[in-house]
Amino acid sequence: MASANNHVGFEDQTLRDGLQSEARRFSLPEKKHLIGRLANAGLKRIQVGSFVHPRRVPQMADTDELVRSLEPPEGVVFSGLVLNAHGLERALACGLSDVALSASVSDSHSRRNANQNAAAAVDAVAGLIREAVQAGMAVRGGLQCVFGCVYEGAIDPDRVLAAAEKLAAAGARAINLADTTGMAHPRQVADMCARLFRELPDIGLILHLHDTRGLGLANMLAGFEAGVRSFDVCTGGLGGCPFVRGAAGNVPTEDAAHAFEAMGVPTGIDLAALVKVVDDLERLLERRLPGRMAAVLRAAAQKTGACGVRTDD
Ligand SMILES: [Zn+2]
Repeated sequence: MASANNHVGFEDQTLRDGLQSEARRFSLPEKKHLIGRLANAGLKRIQVGSFVHPRRVPQMADTDELVRSLEPPEGVVFSGLVLNAHGLERALACGLSDVALSASVSDSHSRRNANQNAAAAVDAVAGLIREAVQAGMAVRGGLQCVFGCVYEGAIDPDRVLAAAEKLAAAGARAINLADTTGMAHPRQVADMCARLFRELPDIGLILHLHDTRGLGLANMLAGFEAGVRSFDVCTGGLGGCPFVRGAAGNVPTEDAAHAFEAMGVPTGIDLAALVKVVDDLERLLERRLPGRMAAVLRAAAQKTGACGVRTDD
């Protein structure tokens, strides 16, 4: 359902979408430290990992152990990404209560990512959504490559609608539309969201946007104008799909928070605290990340004296 609320919620996916595309393997204590910092910065939903085959995505091999070792702070939800039946078993076994169950609407991407065509993958995920709902889990359904695929080009919106209907019929109350390849443009996002809100009026939408072509934040704002109030983000602008050629990062959490706060839309994010997460990530990865606001806030902090008084503008 389209929301008229003047408030947005973010799910930070640095630990999953962010770290899955990094060669550096983060240790369990490093992951826990980042999760603590994100919660301190006001993130109310944090995707802590995925339950995928450790040979395909070794960075996520310790997700079970990580979930078992975490105690969510009051009001914070930890979620995990599940793509198949074994992944759902693992999520249930380690006591995770909130899962994203996702399939691709592109045949080529689905074959690379899930070894089956899109129709089969969507049916399989719908079956898993039924199971997860019956097991009492909170479930977000998800569709990947909604706005285009680098391997097969445009994706027919009718195909997206049919897949969304299947996930909704299986019990998903919210559906995540992922621009996995960063091919969306703002008008396309607005049209797709408006159509889904119209055809599936009881279903919430979440947007997961990659900034591959520099349109991530513009697409997010187009989704907001269409009534979407939930967005996936990655601190520093990390992220990318290991199975998409040339994939780039997600919309940076700090840039999204700044954009909405500047427009008077509350996000609950403490930007100064979030910059500390960017500091940590840049130190561990030994490079600058693409997000813009960390540099802006660091420069502003340098201009401010130790007593907190600005010395110039
Ligand atoms: Zn992604």
